[in-house]
Amino acid sequence: MRKKQEKSNVYIRSLVKLLIIDFITPVSYNNYMKFGTKLLLNGHDPQTGALSTPIYQCSTYAWKDINGKQEFDYSRSGNPTRKALEDEIALLENGVAGFAFASGMAATSSVLGILQSGDHIITAQDIYGGSYRIMNTFYKRWGLLCTAVDTQDIANIKAALRPNTKALFLETPSNPLLKITDLSTAVNFARENNLISVVDNTFMTPYLQRPLELGADIVIHSATKFLGGHSDVILGLAVTRTDELAKRIYPVQNGFGAVPGPQDIWLTLRGIKTLKVRMDASQKTAGILARWFSEQKNIEAVYYPGLSGHEGKVIHDKQADGAGAVLSFKTKTEEQAHHFLNNLRYAKSAVSLGAVETIASYPVKMSHAGMPPPERQRLGITPTLIRLSAGLEDPQDLIEEFEAALR
Ligand SMILES: *Cc1c(COP(=O)(O)O)cnc(C)c1O
Repeated sequence: MRKKQEKSNVYIRSLVKLLIIDFITPVSYNNYMKFGTKLLLNGHDPQTGALSTPIYQCSTYAWKDINGKQEFDYSRSGNPTRKALEDEIALLENGVAGFAFASGMAATSSVLGILQSGDHIITAQDIYGGSYRIMNTFYKRWGLLCTAVDTQDIANIKAALRPNTKALFLETPSNPLLKITDLSTAVNFARENNLISVVDNTFMTPYLQRPLELGADIVIHSATKFLGGHSDVILGLAVTRTDELAKRIYPVQNGFGAVPGPQDIWLTLRGIKTLKVRMDASQKTAGILARWFSEQKNIEAVYYPGLSGHEGKVIHDKQADGAGAVLSFKTKTEEQAHHFLNNLRYAKSAVSLGAVETIASYPVKMSHAGMPPPERQRLGITPTLIRLSAGLEDPQDLIEEFEAALR
């Protein structure tokens, strides 16, 4: 009896495996498993059973039939290693199609590339400096109009709406002040007004926040950060909620051609496998550090959605599963900020975030150097502001060195 049962279980399992793994695309079995398990799916190579996706280091593919159609014919248009990553990010974000790009900025620029001259977009004020720059220089020359507003208040988004507004571009928590935008409210407003809503989800990753599930249309990532996670790759991703949007992005990806190489894709696939454990550890450290900074008398302010006093925390908790691993703080003077950044040993003073190393960045000279100083000042991005991305070091070592660097 028991044997029979076991036999039929084995049969059912292999049938399920056959159906799920081999015939249905990852996106459609999304609901069957928890996030941590989804992270490990990208290793499956059905042809050989390899647990690591092969690096298809090739530009072109032999045609089987000159009159036939084949999935891969040229690696700018598609590559099996890239497809593994694109399917994986679509699965993680719960979207229909994923797209990989040569950088986060290539992802953002390519997504903006579905708009046209004369279109207007509304953006959050303190978005990533590079996104601000491409919108207000390159795309401005091509006739894209852009209004940056404080998206913490939906009234500001509503007031910026014009007849030619076509998209709403959000980042929450924002960079570098961790300001919170209510995604459901903003995205609903976008839908009611036929705007495409785009969310840069780099800070949160799909582990902590999935904007498409809240109704957003497109999610963008700098996979250079938490998804890659090891400071060894530059890569960008986009995911769409609908096939219609996927059909608009693909021609830009293929035509503009800002696609990543297979080695970088492979590093990103490998990084993604440990996203959950890295994020859990870094987030825990970020919480410890945020509380510690709040207690220091040399510190003017601390910005972290995990702190009880953080503006927008209630909204953040509603739309995300954690506070993340990025925080910012302000020293009392500019000299203190410089002294802090120049006296780090375990943590690194560097551009970027989301790595195994703790990274302290200086927005005025790094991520937001491209923003005009008066604009920066208005947004509170001062020369005393330091952004910190918690890594995997022991938090006690970090606290000891921060204590010394603040002295
Ligand atoms: C780093 C970053 C980008 C740009 O990504 P790159 O991979 O450096 O091109 C975009 N958005 C956010 C929030 C970022 O942190």
